[in-house]
Amino acid sequence: MSPKPETTIYANGRIVDGRRHIPNGYLITEGSAIVAVGAGDPKRGGASASVRQVDLAGRTLLPGFIDCHVHLTMNAAAAPAAIVSPADQMVGVLQASINALATLHGGVTTVRDCGAPHGIDFALRRAAEEGLCVTPRLMLSGRALCMTGGHGWHLIGREVDGPDELRKAAREQLKAGADNVKLIASGGILTPGTNIGNPQFTVDEMRAAVEEAHFAGKTANAHAHGAEGIKRATQAGVDSVEHCYFIDPEGIEMMLARGTVLVATSAAVRNVVAYGVAAGIPRHIAEKAESAIKAHVSGFKAAHKAGVRLAMGTDSGVPYTRHGSNLDELIHLVDMGLSPQEAIRVATADSARLLKLEEQLGSLDEGKNADLVVVDGNPLDDIRVLRAPETVRRVVLNGRTVLDRDASRFLVGAGFTPGA
Ligand SMILES: [Zn+2]
Repeated sequence: MSPKPETTIYANGRIVDGRRHIPNGYLITEGSAIVAVGAGDPKRGGASASVRQVDLAGRTLLPGFIDCHVHLTMNAAAAPAAIVSPADQMVGVLQASINALATLHGGVTTVRDCGAPHGIDFALRRAAEEGLCVTPRLMLSGRALCMTGGHGWHLIGREVDGPDELRKAAREQLKAGADNVKLIASGGILTPGTNIGNPQFTVDEMRAAVEEAHFAGKTANAHAHGAEGIKRATQAGVDSVEHCYFIDPEGIEMMLARGTVLVATSAAVRNVVAYGVAAGIPRHIAEKAESAIKAHVSGFKAAHKAGVRLAMGTDSGVPYTRHGSNLDELIHLVDMGLSPQEAIRVATADSARLLKLEEQLGSLDEGKNADLVVVDGNPLDDIRVLRAPETVRRVVLNGRTVLDRDASRFLVGAGFTPGA
């Protein structure tokens, strides 16, 4: 007979998800699942030895956040460097594991990595499965597919041209374990010599890769800044378009009509502009970000007003967008017109839906996975309380506490959990 799963009662505090706000409530987990949630005092449980109590006084309990756009193999360095040599690659796995742990401790319990070289993302997942490191739940893309000379070719890309090559490359990533096929549909900020507004790939090229992702029950997404690239990717049937900094009214209409999700990655462009050349960012990168930020804010506002579906993504790993600061993106979303609760919904339930994880994740409903975050204060009054890491007090992944700032130590690593 297997032992009864451990029960944890979170009580005496605020319970908030994308649609719920209980000023004083409780939530009960058993093992890896949420089993009860409600107002007032817990209806069952008690102080028996097998029940753990977590006092939420002055705090808010939220679902674990979901970041649909990170690069765990990139280190937020001012000038991103390609991972080339075998030694680079081995160090890259270790670096990715540190980045993943920082992300988890920042309150993000699920990430979609949007492009990694040399199978480092798959190696990271294997290491986590073997208990060598602790990561958020990982949704992986393998290499991003770009045209020859396309954005990202030197960092995370696999250069392919023509529908047949795209189809084969998509199948390769899926074979290696990808949960998502990532396409590059326009120039980008980090790649020298590409104009961010220029389209890359034809609709037919991208459609071949999107079909393969969908045949396999997986998602496909596209990086696109320029208006034309956004439209081509949308026509090709991707599930989400990332960045969308130069989206135009026609692109908004197309995304609305197809239910295509916009993942804004506002943090990425804001951080490059905020730090700039003075902080070591190469001039070509800083100038492109500066050229995009105004259009990004107005384009995002127009898309949101029109009702385009949203999900949360940061592009963490690009210059000065640090792993673990992912929840800054919610502050940017509120800055661009979302209510705090709407931003929370986008970063939980709506992101879970994009990643086809809505059955298990994204809200504090009975039966869902116990992915939980406890923060100081009330994010509905002031979204800035989500600014990690200071105010993220506790993070729970699948019922397991992976950060407790009230304890004298952080809890890390399966097989390496001191005192557990
Ligand atoms: Zn990216």
